[in-house]
Amino acid sequence: MRENSQQLFDKAQQFIPGGVNSPVRAFKAVGGTPVFMKSAKGPYLFDEDGNRYIELINSWGPMVLGHAHEIIEKAVSDALQRSFSFGAPTRKEVEIAELIVLMVPSVEKIRMVNSGTEATMSAIRLARGYTGRDKMIKFEGCYHGHGDSFLIAAGSGAVTFGTPDSPGVPKGVANDTLTARYNDLEHVKELIEANPNQVAAIILEPVAGNMGCVVPDPAFLKGLRELSTRNGILLIFDEVMTGFRLSRGGAQERFGVMPDLTTLGKIIGGGMPVGAYGGRKEIMDYVSPAGPVYQAGTLSGNPIAMAAGYAMLDYLNTHPETYQTLEDIGQKLATGIKNSLQKTGLSYTLNHIGSMLTLFFTDKAVFDFESAKTSDTALFGRYFHEMLNQGVYLAPSQYESLFFSTALTDAHIALILEANENALKKISRQ
Ligand code: PMP
Repeated sequence: MRENSQQLFDKAQQFIPGGVNSPVRAFKAVGGTPVFMKSAKGPYLFDEDGNRYIELINSWGPMVLGHAHEIIEKAVSDALQRSFSFGAPTRKEVEIAELIVLMVPSVEKIRMVNSGTEATMSAIRLARGYTGRDKMIKFEGCYHGHGDSFLIAAGSGAVTFGTPDSPGVPKGVANDTLTARYNDLEHVKELIEANPNQVAAIILEPVAGNMGCVVPDPAFLKGLRELSTRNGILLIFDEVMTGFRLSRGGAQERFGVMPDLTTLGKIIGGGMPVGAYGGRKEIMDYVSPAGPVYQAGTLSGNPIAMAAGYAMLDYLNTHPETYQTLEDIGQKLATGIKNSLQKTGLSYTLNHIGSMLTLFFTDKAVFDFESAKTSDTALFGRYFHEMLNQGVYLAPSQYESLFFSTALTDAHIALILEANENALKKISRQ
């Protein structure tokens, strides 16, 4: 049924470490062979064997309007006529910067980079340069890309593969990363008190997606804002997942808490490799060539990527109803999945906000990394494959969030819910 995927994976393992270019794609957490994709359109993915799947990851977030949306296709094909890279400034970079500043409430200036990893690495360097301090606080289970400082108690693939602390990260770097429990303000206070005038930044996913979806207590975000201001620490919201998804202005707008710096990625590139970091003017003016903190990129602000990103953001900016559509889709799926769970009597916690959702197989509330880890990951693996075999493509790990797109109609939602009920019935019987 997926013979071509199997053959490709066999060959891939000869030439690519683990057969993939990003670890979670290898399906190690859920077992089995990764599905090799050939094309996608709207709500559907098509694999190398001609199978069709309803898409609930959407390239881990970027395809918020579904795959190959006409507006982005057109922007990219128009841009292709004018060459693929200049390494010189272009009009689109100015336009996208202006649009991001308009949409994301705390951002006054923005620098484009090529991935979420680059965005967070650069934001941390900037925070260190600006404050003259070395340490930072991150949260267990949050993932901020694969920069050295962040691979301490990291989420996403790092935890899926049991290596939240990676070899190859120098001890000195690790010592400068302090880790706190998500949703635990007291713990953050203790770390700040134990490291007076040494903490440059507190970085977090304002809604976590990388230990599965974990929603913050609003008082936690407000408390972090106050603590940061009081102690001369920069608060960084990593909105690589939540930016332009949880609202037009991201999680900061949804929760009404303004960070000093924001990192962005995924949706900002409309599917092209793009990231960005931005924030208050006086901090961003510390970045080279305006200021002393160095950061650069040959392909940064790439014209094709900027065209795709601008088309995506301009659409979201001029179609605010998109966010209601995403809320409705998330609500319908969450309600339907819960109904089926109640019928089967399985232990579960369903975390959901807007168009992000994770079903944890645990009877504990999931509000931090420890509680996320109480989930039955073997059961999740079985659930994943039951869904896959019915043509629904989920994130291949318990410690990830699903991301919905506006391409899902009520008919797709009905199909997903039917598959979900079948899958839950099967795994509860085994
Ligand atoms: N921050 C967050 C919150 C992320 O979810 C991710 C990737 N999933 C990153 C940073 C890193 O982005 P990239 O994979 O583009 O380097």
